[in-house]
Amino acid sequence: MVIAATLLDELIAHAREEYDDECCGIVAYASGEGGVGEPPATKVHRATNIHASRKRFEIDGLELLRTLEEFEQAGWELGAIYHSHTHTAPYPSQTDINFAANWPGLEWVIVGLADGEPEVRCYLIEDGEVREVDLQVRS
Ligand SMILES: [Zn+2]
Repeated sequence: MVIAATLLDELIAHAREEYDDECCGIVAYASGEGGVGEPPATKVHRATNIHASRKRFEIDGLELLRTLEEFEQAGWELGAIYHSHTHTAPYPSQTDINFAANWPGLEWVIVGLADGEPEVRCYLIEDGEVREVDLQVRS
């Protein structure tokens, strides 16, 4: 993911506000058409974790649909889904990996808050395999 520092701060602020429940949300990327390299994140949408749980997250289906419509109208693409891990390392759990199977091609951003200082990591999860990818922060 390529993201501006201010946008990343928004995402981390969300994770801190929901602590110690997991937060979740959706990141739009600018349209990649005609551009060079990976399109940057352009919007962080805070979603409601319908479980309000420190162990798992699920975005309300209707909210997800509405958000995707908004993105489409703005000319953005669904780029990443983020959530926080408040008591474990920022690495996809088996639940995350299973969930990711429904969303091929998306990036998965996890904010780890277990160690005090937030640690943000980005993954691609394909066919049950987890691969960490670059998180490029632009000032
Ligand atoms: Zn998780």
